[in-house]
Amino acid sequence: MESVPTGQRSSHQTVEKGRSRPISRGVETDIAYLYEVLPQLSRIFRIIDKIGEGTFSTVYLAEAQMTDGSRRMFALKHLIPTSHPVRIAAELQCLTVAGGTENVIGVTYCFRKEHHVVIVMPYMEHQTFVDIVGSLSFEDVKHYIFHLLKALRHIHKFGIIHRDIKPTNFLFNQQRREYALVDFGLAQGTPDTQIELLKELLGLDKAPRSVFGEKNINGTISHKPGTDKVEGLLSKTKREEVIPRKIVSSKHRSVPVRAPLNQKPKPPAVSPMLICNCFMTDRVCNICLSRKQQVAPRAGTPGFRAPEVLTKCPNQGTAIDMWSAGVILLSLLSGRYPFFKASDDLIALTQIMTIRGSRETKEAAKTFGKSIVCSRELPRLDLRILCETLRGLRSWDDTSLPAEFQTSRNPAEVKQDAGSPAKKRMSSGSLRSIAELQEMGWDKAPDDVYDLLDKLLDLNPATRITASMALQHPLFKDMTN
Ligand code: ADP
Ligand code: MG
Ligand code: ZN
Repeated sequence: MESVPTGQRSSHQTVEKGRSRPISRGVETDIAYLYEVLPQLSRIFRIIDKIGEGTFSTVYLAEAQMTDGSRRMFALKHLIPTSHPVRIAAELQCLTVAGGTENVIGVTYCFRKEHHVVIVMPYMEHQTFVDIVGSLSFEDVKHYIFHLLKALRHIHKFGIIHRDIKPTNFLFNQQRREYALVDFGLAQGTPDTQIELLKELLGLDKAPRSVFGEKNINGTISHKPGTDKVEGLLSKTKREEVIPRKIVSSKHRSVPVRAPLNQKPKPPAVSPMLICNCFMTDRVCNICLSRKQQVAPRAGTPGFRAPEVLTKCPNQGTAIDMWSAGVILLSLLSGRYPFFKASDDLIALTQIMTIRGSRETKEAAKTFGKSIVCSRELPRLDLRILCETLRGLRSWDDTSLPAEFQTSRNPAEVKQDAGSPAKKRMSSGSLRSIAELQEMGWDKAPDDVYDLLDKLLDLNPATRITASMALQHPLFKDMTN
């Protein structure tokens, strides 16, 4: 039987035992605010520090005394009060149904008072990806990707599309080789999902769609009465619609802006089909610039978005998570993070074409009904040569990589490259010597890993490898599923 947190909160200290870093005034204020809006927390937890702050939530580290007298650490995720009730309930249901096993974080409890919700999870100590990406051995990388694939196979079985697979949502403890997939805040369901509330979200999004008239998926869902399936979490009277999350101020105590539910979203103004002559050229005319864009979910982070997400293909499935896993593997193999640094979707698509080829990208896009115009032919790159060059196992001189690929990525490195070939090699990679890289097993990375990478970064979602197929890949023949 698991011990549960008792109602006794240890005295409030601002510095955890053994933790040298004192917390800042700002964090202290935020912690005081959290105790204030959710007073029930103070009876159980001593909130120690803020450990994550995103657009949609703030995550705190907290300690609780358990019934058996032991102390345990928890992560408290305070969701922004403007999140849609069904959205919150769906995140929680993903965790309760699929979490706690197979490298998916579990959920311990959930607190709510008015529109404030805190999800309590076991705390998992983890490293920041950027700090470790260059120091992982080939074996470490193989384990990492294997465990990520296990988490994906598990959630995909439930018909959950995570939609935001990236290193900050896949926690990794290098010493303990522990992994945890977190953050179902953007998850969606496949048409046959077993997560009832994800179906609810799908249903909410069935508003008339038009080729013109983009809407933010989080901003236009309307709340149907009687959909509060998670007991005690949401009151049935809470029927509000949220405004798009990105324009909500994260400032504390600001009054959430809500539109009444009965105010139906206006159907997008359907522009008449204006004829223009920029079609199939590499410019965009003013008529086209004034067109609104196609509606499709575009959640996630540009650098991890699959081509079908970037081109707003309306049919998106679990394959989008597999693409993101491929981008993570690309970072792990090349030692570069973030690999694609894109501020918008078109830049992200161009960066994909730089590696996977422009002709190949166009052909794949055609299969899902999208046409891409690219003014220049970009050849498909060999993934092994690309990764080994970026890591520093190969000299730039010996590769056929386009020169601008090298210079456009890291302008700072170009200056240093004036030196010897050895220096050149060092500065382009993780600044490790060949001997060190050999020690880490990088010279013996099998072709299998690049074959798996190629299958994850399949531009066509219909043929892209699934998580359960990937776990059967020869790369993992010595690992137990
Ligand atoms: P957001 O929706 O704001 O991205 P996440 O659920 O991804 O929220 O959490 C943000 C960050 O908080 C994570 O990247 C991670 O660093 C930290 N975090 C979240 N859950 C846990 C946990 N259970 N244990 C330890 N850290 C966590
Ligand atoms: Mg996150
Ligand atoms: Zn045009």
